[in-house]
Amino acid sequence: MEFDIQALLLNILILLFFLLFIPLILEQCNTSNKKKKFFMLISVNLAIISCISFPVIETGGKIFDLRYVATIIGGLYGGIPASISIWIVTVTYRIFFGGDGIILNVLIASMHFAFLIILFKKFTYSSKIKKLIIGTGYSIVTSMLTVAFIGWYINEAMLYLGFTYMISLSITVLLIIYITEIMNETSRLKIRTEKMDLVSQLASSISHEVRNPLTVVRGFLQLMSQVDLTKEKRDEYLKISIEEIDRANNIIKDYLSFAKPNSIKTELLDVNQELSRSLDVITPLANMNSVSIKTNINTSFIYGEKQLFQQCLLNIKKNCIEAMPNGGTLEIESKEFYDQVVISISDTGIGMTEEHLNRLGEPYFTTKGKKGTGLGMMSVFRIIESMNGTLHITSELQKGSKFSIQFPKIKNNESFEVAATSSDQS
Ligand code: ADP
Ligand code: MG
Repeated sequence: MEFDIQALLLNILILLFFLLFIPLILEQCNTSNKKKKFFMLISVNLAIISCISFPVIETGGKIFDLRYVATIIGGLYGGIPASISIWIVTVTYRIFFGGDGIILNVLIASMHFAFLIILFKKFTYSSKIKKLIIGTGYSIVTSMLTVAFIGWYINEAMLYLGFTYMISLSITVLLIIYITEIMNETSRLKIRTEKMDLVSQLASSISHEVRNPLTVVRGFLQLMSQVDLTKEKRDEYLKISIEEIDRANNIIKDYLSFAKPNSIKTELLDVNQELSRSLDVITPLANMNSVSIKTNINTSFIYGEKQLFQQCLLNIKKNCIEAMPNGGTLEIESKEFYDQVVISISDTGIGMTEEHLNRLGEPYFTTKGKKGTGLGMMSVFRIIESMNGTLHITSELQKGSKFSIQFPKIKNNESFEVAATSSDQS
């Protein structure tokens, strides 16, 4: 039995390269999320293949290496598709590599597969600290199981080696989760900066829309000061005035709840309620552009951060309205489809060419010249990704565009703890 410290360091280097450096590079690229996910999957599997190729401990045909770090990170962040591909690659490559630890390898890989699929959801909706605890705890428990398994198989207690293996595997997992979370926070910060643009751009349409009811109410008050007014007329004026004030109040309330920096927390969101809220805020802009709004929204539940979700909806709706300079219809629908909630937002505007469609989400891509920032769709993509959703866009020139967002549906009674993190994440 031989312990190779150089191979251990090499394993750690391989893992840092494939699990941190490659994601960092991908983050900087302007590729679509689908492609990023695909490249990440390849990267994780390359990490596994490289680790198996440089065993840290070799004992009677059985090899120890840090491949399960990649299995754990890939499974926790990538979910079921990642876990499936990792299982296939681990088992196939290990068979190709030979030796008599193959059966054990299949068993251990399957154990990870089963556990990680169960843990994935819980992990995804946890705070940074909880993610660290889950990842490290899981690594300690499963590496102890692995050592016990192999020790039993070769009939030899491997206390010292087992302990070293467990410690190095768990610390590497801890380190990688920690740095990944820091990288994710930086990406959030970019989204928050973009929000300030949106807040200021919406302000003028909102203030315009709130001035109208004020004028209306002032007119009615003047009318009501006439002495010879019948009771019916007076009641009617009163009713209209109250309605107008309520409407203005709703707009301001929803706008402010979006604009003020709130604490960031993942919670159960009622799609119906959130869509109505964002409608209050965007209607003034639609009115200013003679855009009529059609809705067909239903109650469904998803997990997410309220303000980020609002930002995503507002960005898409604002783009749609801006694509209809001569007026048109903005249509908003939500429905459940199997285990997904599908929200579709469509316009009857100018549409996009194939080339523009492909560039959507690229930072600073805009066709609006000085008026555009080219950051809206970038935020939309990131927010939807952070909520484990997908965005599908179709568009036809001079006909309009349709944005379909899919999120995993949460049953109202499905209550696993959701982490609340404070607004000032460092
Ligand atoms: P901005 O709105 O500041 O230009 P975005 O990232 O929100 O930046 O959008 C990028 C580009 O995508 C827009 O400039 C526009 O060309 C195109 N686009 C986005 N949404 C639509 C839409 N609904 N209809 C047509 N083009 C759109
Ligand atoms: Mg925009």
